[in-house]
This record gives sequence, C-alpha cells and structure tokens, in this order.
Amino acid sequence: MQKVGILGGGQLGRMLLQSAANYPVETYVLENDPACPAAHLCHHFVKGDIQNFDDVYNFGKGLDAITIEIEAVNEDALEKLEKEGVKVYPKPSALRTIKNKILQKQFYKDQQIPTAPFVITQNKGELRQQTSFLPAVHKVGLGGYDGRGVQVIKTPDVIEKGFDAPSVLEKMVTIHKEIAQIVAINAKGETALYPAVDMVMDQSLNLLDYQISPADIPDKTLWKVEAIALAVVKGLKSPGLFAVELFVDKQGDVFVNETAPRVHNSGHHTIEANYSSQFDMLWRIILDYPLGNADHILPAAIVNVLGADGFSGEVKYEGLNEVLQMDNVFVHIYGKKQTKPGRKMGHITIVSKDKHDLAYKAHRIKNTLKVIS
Ligand code: ADP
Repeated sequence: MQKVGILGGGQLGRMLLQSAANYPVETYVLENDPACPAAHLCHHFVKGDIQNFDDVYNFGKGLDAITIEIEAVNEDALEKLEKEGVKVYPKPSALRTIKNKILQKQFYKDQQIPTAPFVITQNKGELRQQTSFLPAVHKVGLGGYDGRGVQVIKTPDVIEKGFDAPSVLEKMVTIHKEIAQIVAINAKGETALYPAVDMVMDQSLNLLDYQISPADIPDKTLWKVEAIALAVVKGLKSPGLFAVELFVDKQGDVFVNETAPRVHNSGHHTIEANYSSQFDMLWRIILDYPLGNADHILPAAIVNVLGADGFSGEVKYEGLNEVLQMDNVFVHIYGKKQTKPGRKMGHITIVSKDKHDLAYKAHRIKNTLKVIS
C-alpha cells in the first residue's frame, strides 16, 4: 500500500482524507495542531511545522508521495525529497512559481497568458512612484492569503495602504465575473477540466461568498477560460490538481488572476455534484489510476459557512436544523472548535436542476445559518 502524506491539516486535508478512505492508501498528516480538522481522519498524525525544513523533510522521507493543502510550506525540503525519489504533487518547481505572486505574474507574462498589466515594487518608496499606474491592486509577493495580502489602491491619497515589501502592483480590472476553473493533470499529461464556476465575492472580507456551477457565461467566454486555464497548467509542467482563478471583464476578455496548485475552495461542490470530486481526482493522480469524470451530475451552489462578525470563542451553529431540513442541501462542518469573524468553519452545497432554486436556497441559507460563540 502506498504511503502518502499531506502537508497541512485543515479542511482541505480533511476532505482529501474523506476521499482517501475509498482507496488502498496509508495516509499521513503533518500539522502543528493535533486538534486540526484532518487529524482524526488520517492513519498517522505527525506534529510539526509545515514551514520548517527538518519537519517537512523528516515527515516525507519514508513516504511514496506527498501533497499539500496550503502553499505556505517548506519547498526546499520538498525539493530534496523529490530528488530522493518521493513524488511531490504539485512539483516543488511549480509550487515555487505560484507561491510568490511576483514569480507567478512573471510566469503568465513569459508564457503569454492574458493577465492584468503589472509592475513590481520592492518597497513603499517604489510604490509611491507609481501614482500614474493607478487605479491598481497591490499584492504582496510572499505570505498573503485569503485577501489579507491584497490592497486596492484607487487613488494616490491611499497609496500608504500598500505593502513595504516586494509586491506586484496590478492594474485594476473592471470585473464582470470572477470564474474558477479546476484542471486535473496526471503524470502522462492527460487532463480533465471541471465545469467553470462563478465566484461571488464578499467585498468587505475579500472572501468567497457563494458560487454557482456551472458558470453562467457565453460559450465564447467559456472557451477562453478553458484555453487559458489549460495553458497555465501545462506551462507549470507538473502533475496535480490546479484551480485557476480568472476575471472576465465587460467586453468578455478573460485574464488570469491567480492559480492554486491544490484542491480549492471553489471545487467543494464536486463532492456531491460531479462524478469524480476534486479530492477523488487528486487521489487518482497521486496513486496513478485513470483520471475520473469531471462532468457535473447536477448544477450546484456552495455557501461558505463563515464566523459571524462580533463573535470569537467556542463555536455554536445557529439555524443548522432549518438548513438540514432543506431538500438537496449538504452540510459540511469542518470541526474547528474556535470561531472568529470571517473564519471558514464549513460549507454547504446545494444541488438542483434549476439555477433559480440554487440562488434562492443559497440566500436562504446565508440568512438562516449563523456561526456564533
Ligand atoms: P488572494 O490570493 O488573497 O485570494 P486575490 O489576488 O485573489 O487574493 O485578490 C482578492 C480579490 O481582490 C479578488 O478576488 C478580486 O475580487 C480582487 N482583485 C484582485 N486583483 C484585482 C484586479 N487586478 N482588479 C480588480 N480586482 C482585483
């Protein structure tokens, strides 16, 4: 039986392990917190720091393969493990490109993949000289996550909001839609594309609010989305599962925003709504089985279950019974003991043939379920 490790023990690791239970695989998780969402679902929990070279190296050296559920891991250790014969998904070289937003943007440019124009600023002094480039979005090169490394700078008077660290300053796109396209690619280079999804963002938190799959976009736009996402994934030259986030503007032009080299928030509905979920698909790639069928069985929506504003501490779920009474609604609570404002505590998938039903239920769930303390 193959031994496969996951760096990180959050909800993505948890859902990966739920899928792993269907396959002959012995699972390992490296994570600091023994009470993390994935801990009780793996065969072997190893306490350690995913950013620490020795912890990652020692964790990985007896394994057949290793994957990640978050980009903030020690890629030097992964590189060494790869040299010693451990299969790493995604390849450390791809991870290195994606992890740093400066390298990621440069990669799109080098591959002639459409992305918003940008300049690189090393520090605040350099940023201040870019007033003519505004309105723009400042994105810190390393360490940003879930909107926390991103500042919108529309006018020179708010330029001080920017980062005093190597960053990308990207032209503001007039976004008509945000789309996510998940692509699976195996070691032979065979690919499977999931139906593109519409992501609806919460403007204040910069977090995914809810999303609908398949995306409501014209065929011509969808073809651009798929072609661009495939170009990104092929350019990265690594097997694995990738989520490419794209912007569609009012003219129907498509730009890559960013890519995640791992299972992704925008693909959680695939557990119930698609033949092979994103988690199932990644195991097929890691264990060298045929790719699964990425098509949807039914359209779906996802509502994120986020910690409500003003509540921190031991979590309580208000309205869960009402949600569980709704038809074709699937609840996923991640098992985190503590809530805080905006923390991802779970998600809810709705499936339906009728897209109006999806939007209606998504709003009803958002108004019914509250994560408090
Ligand atoms: P993160 O990696 O933290 O998710 P993103 O780069 O995806 O950060 O940016 C977060 C959000 O900010 C995007 O989903 C989008 O709504 C907005 N945004 C990012 N870049 C641009 C841009 N160039 N133009 C307009 N809005 C943007």
